[in-house]
Amino acid sequence: MTFPFAEPLIPVPAGPRVIPEPPRRGEPGGDTCGVCNRDDHIWADDHWGVYNPVGCSLPGTVWVASRMHVDSFSDLPVQLQGELGGLIAKVERAILTLEDIARVHLYRWGDGGSHFHFWLMPRPLGMLEASKHFLPIWEEQMPPVPQEEIEAVGKRIGAHLRDAG
Ligand SMILES: [Zn+2]
Repeated sequence: MTFPFAEPLIPVPAGPRVIPEPPRRGEPGGDTCGVCNRDDHIWADDHWGVYNPVGCSLPGTVWVASRMHVDSFSDLPVQLQGELGGLIAKVERAILTLEDIARVHLYRWGDGGSHFHFWLMPRPLGMLEASKHFLPIWEEQMPPVPQEEIEAVGKRIGAHLRDAG
């Protein structure tokens, strides 16, 4: 058991389905998109931006978004689809330059906002209980580090990305 909770955990059945689903941020009827027109990136080019999280317990976590408002992988223009692998590799490499990182996890949900984005989250070296899909659960459960620390680490990641070109 690698959940960050004490036992006993009791399985519960899924609730009734909610159809139609409520609008996400950036969809008609939903809240305004919080990604369009952002300028607080730690690195950006014409197509992509890399951003610090807020209230995060794992320094080195970043989220990456397309500059254009599209929903998912298949909505990206073909050129941006082609850029994505190289971009992910660059951001992963930048995060791996930090101390005590075992591995960088990539998570993509899209359930909260409709603007294409994904997360890169470092699993701390030796934190085996946070392997695989347990890392974001641990991230939510652990106390957030001061935002200044997140931003300081984000600056280091941004500098590596600028050096990488
Ligand atoms: Zn947007």
